[in-house]
Amino acid sequence: MPTPPHTVSDLPVAQFVGGRWTESATTMAVLNPATGTQVATVADGDDVTALAALDAAVAAQESWAATDPRHRSDILLNAFHLLHAGADRIARTITLEMGKPLAEARGEVGYGAEFLRWFAEEATRGSGAYFRAPSGGRRIAVRKQPVGPVFAITPWNFPLAMVTRKVAPALAAGCTVVLKPAPQTPLTAMEFMRILVEAGVPAGVVNCVTTARAPLVSAPILADRRLRKLTFTGSTGVGRMLFAQAARRVLRVSMELGGNAPFVVLESADLDKAVEGAVLAKLRNAGQTCVAADRFLVHESLVAEFTERFVAAVAALSVGEGLDESTRIGPLIDGAAVQRITAMVDEAVGLGAHQHTATAELGGAGHFLRPAVLTGVDTRSRLWTSEVFGPVAAIRSFTDPAEALRLADDTESGLAGYVFGENLGDTLDFAERLHTGMVGVNTGAISDPAAPFGGTRSSGLGREGGSTGLDEYQELQYLAIER
Ligand code: NAD
Repeated sequence: MPTPPHTVSDLPVAQFVGGRWTESATTMAVLNPATGTQVATVADGDDVTALAALDAAVAAQESWAATDPRHRSDILLNAFHLLHAGADRIARTITLEMGKPLAEARGEVGYGAEFLRWFAEEATRGSGAYFRAPSGGRRIAVRKQPVGPVFAITPWNFPLAMVTRKVAPALAAGCTVVLKPAPQTPLTAMEFMRILVEAGVPAGVVNCVTTARAPLVSAPILADRRLRKLTFTGSTGVGRMLFAQAARRVLRVSMELGGNAPFVVLESADLDKAVEGAVLAKLRNAGQTCVAADRFLVHESLVAEFTERFVAAVAALSVGEGLDESTRIGPLIDGAAVQRITAMVDEAVGLGAHQHTATAELGGAGHFLRPAVLTGVDTRSRLWTSEVFGPVAAIRSFTDPAEALRLADDTESGLAGYVFGENLGDTLDFAERLHTGMVGVNTGAISDPAAPFGGTRSSGLGREGGSTGLDEYQELQYLAIER
């Protein structure tokens, strides 16, 4: 089947600062992970660009905060409709720069757009409190105000949705933004900047600095006393480092970090649901999701049949270039990811695991890895102890739920978990005991703009989306009112 051209040609090689695309002397290449070819050349920002972007955000903060919530809501809703109108183009850009199958990229546009609609609605829901102090005649009023200019750093695995999940609530709350997208996926962020301009976002309210030199851009912004908040989505290691930098200024922070999700199949589980959920939770985006199921714990009475059916379902998925509509599993982001995951599988096999499917690379210039399923995985294997971020499932069996709970919980991560079971009481008991911020009960897909997304332990701080999503971008002010 013929595929469309493999380049994105009409985006500017420039930074989006203060409402203008500004030329850059230094550039960086954006590569297609399915072919290794160059998709585009974009600006490679530095400390000067970074501070220019912060200047613009600071200059726009007061007037943006003073706009009516209804006005901000209308602009967000415009952007929602424009994203849908441009969905095909943006989906193709996502696929070109990070590889996911087109159908998933379209799904991401729909999901990413929902944050604009959700926060367009939340923007108009005023909240606060007014009450008499218990000990006297004083009245207490509590109001919410925008926290101020926000620095948003995003990963490549959902190049649109991870941006809208931050920019939409920030704008709704009345905050201005400097965005630094991942170096692998600047094009989707640039497409989104165009949409925000068309939607009516004033100059300086959102600024975007693309760079391959992240610390050069982030350090001066984080050190600047005019910045009020850091919101980061990415790996736990980078998050820890940025958290330490933010601590020097006691900055407000939101951290959406890595996971290592358990996927538990209880004795009462319906295997049709469990296998369908496992494919979704493990293999969406070729396993490159923070909520990906990594550690499968299956009751001993079901493990043989679950494994057989899961392996068959995995083997049926076609691996290839995302622009080909028949592809279900695209490439990994780069060659290092292929090598890292292959080494994890080799280590697990060395420690006694049985591999049911080949992890063979597909060859060629693309970074492809066939999905693999392993059973009897030793709990010392990195495949078990760390975030896999690729298409490999590690299965162990258990005898009683207490043992499953202990194994599921034996991790520093606390982002997502999954539990399958038809005995509702037992299944909910299990779900409630998991120390994760999110639990899929009989489902392998948990993300929802209306729900609070985020993790416990080293998976992060704060929640994105849901009815509390605006709080991350608001400060409380209380007025003590005497007669
Ligand atoms: P990453 O941590 O390598 O990069 C994330 C962002 O941080 C990028 O924009 C990158 O340029 C920037 N960055 C890297 N080093 C930096 C530094 N020294 N200073 C400043 N910025 C720096 O992560 P990634 O590979 O892009 O994304 C994958 C990770 O993100 C996985 O661990 C995944 O679990 C996590 N993730 C978490 C969530 C969540 O909501 N919890 C969602 C998506 C991805």
